Amino acid sequence: AKAQLGDTICYYEPSMDENARARRKLANDLRQAIERDELTLLYQPQCFISDGRLSGYEALLRWRHPTSGTISPVEFIPIAEETGQILAIGEWVLREACREASNWPNSHRVAVNLSPIQLVQPELPALVTRILLETGLSPRRLELEITESAIITDKDRALHNLRQIKALGVAIAMDDFGTGYSSLDTLHSFPFDKIKIDKSFLLQSDQNEQARAIIRAVLALGQSLSIPVLAEGVETASHFDLLVNEGCQEAQGYYLGRPGEAPSVLVAHEPGSLK
Ligand code: C2E
Ligand code: CA
Ligand code: CA
Ligand code: CA
Repeated sequence: AKAQLGDTICYYEPSMDENARARRKLANDLRQAIERDELTLLYQPQCFISDGRLSGYEALLRWRHPTSGTISPVEFIPIAEETGQILAIGEWVLREACREASNWPNSHRVAVNLSPIQLVQPELPALVTRILLETGLSPRRLELEITESAIITDKDRALHNLRQIKALGVAIAMDDFGTGYSSLDTLHSFPFDKIKIDKSFLLQSDQNEQARAIIRAVLALGQSLSIPVLAEGVETASHFDLLVNEGCQEAQGYYLGRPGEAPSVLVAHEPGSLK
């Protein structure tokens, strides 16, 4: 197709053009999302497989857009990363998660996702320190989930930041293990407190022997490095049974609980609310 855009002529796929327009609009709207109080966090339970106890909650971001409804982070985080808005959003997420967790009626841990862009900011350790002080949350109750792409971007800076943050008593989890830029070198470079196996493996495990083999291999790796492994994407009893049989330590997924309200309103159902 051929189209006139201002005074330039360009060739395009209509769908691509609409896509670009939609992204620009989202980026624009995102600028006001924090001030307008449109961002919220949902919390998904994580539990110990041995006894079903809650081990913590992962904070998952949602954007309640005034006209488009709830927008998934899969849609707007990449845009925020491109525009740099991820820094303000990421700071909001960290503060909000720590503030909310400090008000929970229990002392469960809260896991917060960090964008690779946040992880290579020289100010990150100071920011984490400041937010912990501001909110009064014990560092032992905070876990940061990071992906390896950050370590690829600027390995020295990322590792320096991780060491400083870990020294505060904050736990560091490697997220989405087995996908993307996963490398054993990363595991070797930093003492992670947890490995999260990407949900794609469990989701294919019923039909795919290779997916099961990868899960087993990651569990063996965790065991030999003495790093507990959490499997994501536990959707069914059969997924859960597989993890029990293979000796996985922790689990997270719709079968155990969907992302939901902060635990202050769930406290009446604890303990053992998961099944
Ligand atoms: P993630 O960190 O891998 O988070 C897990 C995702 O899997 C969440 O999607 C969660 O809702 C979903 N999930 C949980 N259990 C199941 C299950 O049993 N089956 C399936 N199919 N999915 C399950 P969500 O909330 O849409 O978040 C998507 C991604 O967006 C996250 O993936 C993370 O990469 C990113 N994200 C979410 N919140 C934040 C945030 O605050 N900051 C940053 N930087 N990224 C975030
Ligand atoms: Ca995560
Ligand atoms: Ca993940
Ligand atoms: Ca992910």
